[in-house]
Amino acid sequence: MSESIDFSRPPEGSLFDPVASPRGLRLALVFGNESPTGRCPFYNVQCIHCDLGAGEGVSFTPEMNRGRLAFIKEHFKNVLPEICHLVIYNYGSTLNDSELSKETRHRILEFAASLASVKRISFDSREQFVTAERVNDMIAALRPDQSMSITLGFESQSEEVRIGHLKKSITREEVDAVFVALSGHNGRTAVEMNVLFQPPGITGNEAIIEAVATIEYGIQMMKKHGVLVDFNFHPYYPSIKGTKFFPDHPRAMMEHAIRSLFMIIRMIKQQSPESRIFVGWNDEGHDLQPTVKKMKQLLYSPAFAAFNVSQNEDDLQI
Ligand code: SF4
Repeated sequence: MSESIDFSRPPEGSLFDPVASPRGLRLALVFGNESPTGRCPFYNVQCIHCDLGAGEGVSFTPEMNRGRLAFIKEHFKNVLPEICHLVIYNYGSTLNDSELSKETRHRILEFAASLASVKRISFDSREQFVTAERVNDMIAALRPDQSMSITLGFESQSEEVRIGHLKKSITREEVDAVFVALSGHNGRTAVEMNVLFQPPGITGNEAIIEAVATIEYGIQMMKKHGVLVDFNFHPYYPSIKGTKFFPDHPRAMMEHAIRSLFMIIRMIKQQSPESRIFVGWNDEGHDLQPTVKKMKQLLYSPAFAAFNVSQNEDDLQI
């Protein structure tokens, strides 16, 4: 007799522990992708660095994601009363109705609204699905003391890097449209802009300068549209796809990442003190050099963990 697979529990690499973050204790929750293939529609079409878009190998139904949510409630029941920031992923775009139904989204929003300590909920999405209508609908499902942000995988302000190297077709006009869709909610919306440190094609000083320029661009967008921007700073790691297209591109030099962060911290202090930076290590098990990663984590994780709370550059003096 064949055993049926229980999809309520996320795979090991997608079941995260809560981590301290600039917006309080943060918990990333991964749901299944409800597209007909169970994959992100951009997987194998764009984003050469991304292995995540492959999903969990099955097309999820809203019912399966209801089971995932039930698992989450039980698994994290002891820590949920302390969580301040929920981050929602589905291996693709959580605002695309074909990848995460409105029904599932609302079930997640209802869950977030039921947690007294949660003040921020982030939804990962490609730009084109972030419409004013969807944003209004989602904000209306949250409590007035909660804000919603869109995690935008912008990665790099350089068109050459983002569109040319990463094959991620997000134009500046489309980023503008995301901010327009989020505007007009009295501080209850935000963008969490992903910045890929040392993306394929650039290394050394160029990578340091590029990350600073990307943050500067995010700050400009914030000033232009009056929508808060926080930043997720991710050092590059070699994934299967990234290595296929850029076999010689090395994993991010952490010494350079820290130098870049020093410059970024000072810029944020001067220009946008309300923005926060979160340095993230999560690879959902896709880092092709797990041993090297472990060694780097042993060395740098305590500093980043401290910085993620304090936002103080002194914590990065290793
Ligand atoms: S980076 Fe995002 S949009 Fe691109 S393939 Fe991966 S999950 Fe899809």
